Order: sequence, then C-alpha cells, then structure tokens
Amino acid sequence: QAKEQGRNKYRFYNSEMDRTYLRKMVLEKELRKAINHEELMVYYQPQIDLVSRKLVGVEALLRWNHPELGDVSPVEFIPLAEETGLIVGLGEWVLREACKQLKQWQLCGFSPIRVAVNISLRQFYESNLVESIARIVNETGIPFQHLDLEITESVAMHDTSHVIDKLDQLKRLGLSISMDDFGTGYSSLSYLKKLPIDKLKIDRSFLVDVTNDKDNAAIVTTIIAMAKNLDLRVVAEGVENDQQLQLIIEEGCHEAQGYLFGRPMPEQEIRKQLTK
Ligand code: C2E
Ligand code: MG
Ligand code: MG
Ligand code: MG
Repeated sequence: QAKEQGRNKYRFYNSEMDRTYLRKMVLEKELRKAINHEELMVYYQPQIDLVSRKLVGVEALLRWNHPELGDVSPVEFIPLAEETGLIVGLGEWVLREACKQLKQWQLCGFSPIRVAVNISLRQFYESNLVESIARIVNETGIPFQHLDLEITESVAMHDTSHVIDKLDQLKRLGLSISMDDFGTGYSSLSYLKKLPIDKLKIDRSFLVDVTNDKDNAAIVTTIIAMAKNLDLRVVAEGVENDQQLQLIIEEGCHEAQGYLFGRPMPEQEIRKQLTK
C-alpha cells in the first residue's frame, strides 16, 4: 500500500517537473519570436514626487501578450530571458522604445519627465552596455539627464570593480542610477557607499501592512533615514494605500510609486497624466 502510494507520488512529482520544463521550453521558443511578431509592449508606471505631488517620472515595464498563451508575467519570462541571454536583445528593445516614447512626449509639448529602465546583470557582461545605451539615447535625441537605469543588488554585488567601472562610465554620460528592490539582496552597506548610485528604491515587500507590522515600518523608516544621510534620493515602491503614503511622507521619502498612483499602463493611458 505504502509502496504503491510512494510510486504514485513519485510519478506525480515527475510529471509536475515535466510540465514546468515543458512550459520553460515553450516560453523560450516563443520569446525568441516575440519581438518580431509584435507581441511585446512597454507599459509605464507613474513615479510621484512627494513634495510637489507631481508625476516626475515613469518606470518602463515590459509586457508580453502571446496569441495563444495570453499574458505572460515578467516575473516568469524575465528570469528565463536572463538565463538564456535573450535579455540583452529585449533590454535594448525596451530602452529604445522608452527613449522614443519620451521624445514623442517632448515633441507633444508635455513638461519633461524621466523614464526609468530596468537593466539586468547579464547586460553588464554581454553587450557593449555603455556604447549601446549612448547610441540609443543619441539616436532618439533625448537628454541623458532624463534617463534613469534601475539595477538590482545582484548586479551591484557581482564583480565589484567591473560593475563600478561601467556605472561610472554611464554616470559620466549624465544619466542616473537607481538601486531597485533595495533591502532584498545581500549587499553590504560599505559597498553601497562605493557605488555611484543616485537613488534607492525600497522594495515593496517592506511596505506591506506597515500599520500593523512594526518591523516593516521600522525597516522603511530606517532605509529612508539612511538614504538621506548618504545623500541619496529615496523612492518607496508598492504604495497602495493612504497609511503607507502617510508613513513615507512623515519620514521624508522623496518619491513614491505604486497602485495608489497608478498601475503600469500603456502609453495612451499614461499620457492622460502628463501635463503641459
Ligand atoms: P521591478 O523593476 O521592481 O518593477 C516593479 C514591479 O512592481 C512591477 O511588476 C510593478 O507592476 C509592480 N508594482 C508596482 N507598484 C505596485 C503595487 O502597488 N502593488 C503591487 N502588488 N505591485 C506593484 P512587473 O511589471 O510584473 O515586473 C516585475 C519585475 O520584472 C520588475 O520588477 C523587473 O524586475 C522585471 N522587469 C520588468 N520589465 C523589465 C525589463 O524591461 N527589463 C528587465 N531587466 N526587467 C524587467
Ligand atoms: Mg524596477
Ligand atoms: Mg522594484
Ligand atoms: Mg521587484
């Protein structure tokens, strides 16, 4: 009896693994075609300045709608794109789209805003990152000052001198660098000091339930204070309600991003929030 169950369990586990593996295989194959088949879109999420209460930037977030698979979340396909190296091409595509979009808004006469683009670790190693960013920005004709690159702690912790060197070169172009999902990685504080970054984005997991969760509230408060003492701008991610907003305003957080101000949305929607 037990043996029988054990065997069934094993078989179940196996087919489960098969399914996961199959899904990955299918996604990888389909992702390779996605750009040319126009299945990808860039969505934009507002970033609000907490002093002026104005939209001062947007984060570009990749969206994939496959004709048969439907919407595939970046949480699923970005790690796959990183694993396979497809992220290099995808990353360039997102950057170009975002810069072209910013240029278009500028031509329409909207007040200037920043656009933030996520950059993966692999892009630091597999593309001529600095050259390709400089080329794309120059081709689209936006000021470097309006571009913000979001890197994660995993990028920052990897081969320090190589990364710092690239970041320095990028900064010299005039763009700004943000540390995304701050607090979820393992980067040391002394390391943070060495990196040429301009901004910390507090990971949204720390914003969860700040009214009841004293630990989360303490972490948010501490990150804001630390960022300010290090002369960094600080952004709270995942702001969904007034309690969270109140806490970060009290602590003097500079900017906020989250569903309270708007979800990631297509260009036609975000345009309605831009001002002249
Ligand atoms: P991220 O860079 O930390 O982006 C913020 C994520 O938090 C987005 O998820 C956004 O939709 C979500 N978010 C924002 N505000 C809220 C909120 O109030 N509540 C909740 N529950 N979620 C909120 P999304 O778009 O699913 O992207 C997930 C991750 O995928 C991104 O996290 C980023 O790491 C990666 N990603 C997306 N687009 C790109 C890209 O073009 N290049 C690279 N390298 N990574 C990307
Ligand atoms: Mg980001
Ligand atoms: Mg983030
Ligand atoms: Mg995140």
